Amino acid sequence: MAANGHKLTIGDYTVTAFSDGVFQTNLDVTVGVDKEMTQRVAGKSLTEPVYIDVNAFLVEGRGVRALVDAGSGETMGPALGKLPENLRAAGVALDSISHVLLTHLHPDHSNGLIDGAGDPWFPNAELVLQETEIKFWFDRDISQAAHARQRANMVNAKKSLAPYAKRTTRINDGEFLPGIHAMMSPGHTPGHNTWTIESGGQSLIIWGDTIHMAFLQLLRPEVAFVFDTDPAMAVASRMKLLDRARADHARVAGMHLDFPGYGFVGHRDNRWFIDPD
Ligand SMILES: [Zn+2]
Repeated sequence: MAANGHKLTIGDYTVTAFSDGVFQTNLDVTVGVDKEMTQRVAGKSLTEPVYIDVNAFLVEGRGVRALVDAGSGETMGPALGKLPENLRAAGVALDSISHVLLTHLHPDHSNGLIDGAGDPWFPNAELVLQETEIKFWFDRDISQAAHARQRANMVNAKKSLAPYAKRTTRINDGEFLPGIHAMMSPGHTPGHNTWTIESGGQSLIIWGDTIHMAFLQLLRPEVAFVFDTDPAMAVASRMKLLDRARADHARVAGMHLDFPGYGFVGHRDNRWFIDPD
């Protein structure tokens, strides 16, 4: 796996994939499905390790240098939190980032907004996220969390967003920057957002956490995870985005697709697939 970037040109924009590292999990985090089936389809036991790439994307052009998602920071162990060093290694100064466009407020996407001391990694960036998302994780009192994991995520969101308080923009669906569009795809989290880059007749759908385990969810898109706030809604959003990406022949970029995370969605013989570049 390459440590650094993979560039795409989307009209006036250049998009570069960066790795934050690798997240280790297993099939026991699946919900709403028969676990025998998931083990059979994946060819793995419930406890066998599953390694998932964690990616972020840098979108540059038209005076913008926007990072889509910020990785895990120092909160998820030594196999993660590598985004800042990978950006620097590619010659991207962290203080030159103009925007951080978040897909959602989960540890592997937003804890990396700050370093271990709580200082912002991206001191000049405007932070942008869906109104619905920030309301759920940041505006509510922590006592309103449904369970311990949600409570921990709320604590982390409050900590990671604090240094950006004066330069946080809450958005709804629509064009936020020229050719850069926000669209909610809720379920994984209440305000999970898909960023679409459109320029010069080309497009890229940066679909965040629409798919976590491609080897399983392309064959069985109904597989949800304990990390999904609303598993049924997450499944519906996944189906909708798979359909849209196929119908539009649009390239997708996924935070948990194999690095660099790009591909084209297809459907054949009753199963989905993603053709990497
Ligand atoms: Zn994620």
